Amino acid sequence: MCIFCKIVKGEIPNKTLLENEDFLAFEDINPASKIHALIIPKQHISSFDVMPPKVMAEMTEFIQKLASNLEIKDSGYRIISNIGDHGGQEVNHLHFHLLAGEYVGRLVGNK
Ligand code: AMP
Repeated sequence: MCIFCKIVKGEIPNKTLLENEDFLAFEDINPASKIHALIIPKQHISSFDVMPPKVMAEMTEFIQKLASNLEIKDSGYRIISNIGDHGGQEVNHLHFHLLAGEYVGRLVGNK
């Protein structure tokens, strides 16, 4: 079983930020910014690449609610999903990183 499935089952502790029947948001253990959340479907889906579009629609609503709860809608935030080897994905369970709480720099485009 993958590490995020173990978190969903409660076998590995996590700092939960938001949860419903289908999704879980929790703090990243190695934060890259002041706020660094991971958002996952409870169902095991290996990456964004195989995510059914319906799940994306539901996750969008969940992430928007998380942003509202974290009071970062005005200041802004970034969501990222790493996919596969070249994308730098280390945990093979679909997740979005949410980075916020400070200026998180630019990944593409002019500085
Ligand atoms: P990725 O490289 O996109 O697969 O990201 C995996 C993320 O999972 C990394 O940012 C890790 O810090 C995070 N991570 C790994 N194990 C845990 C854990 N037990 N609790 C919280 N975050 C974790």
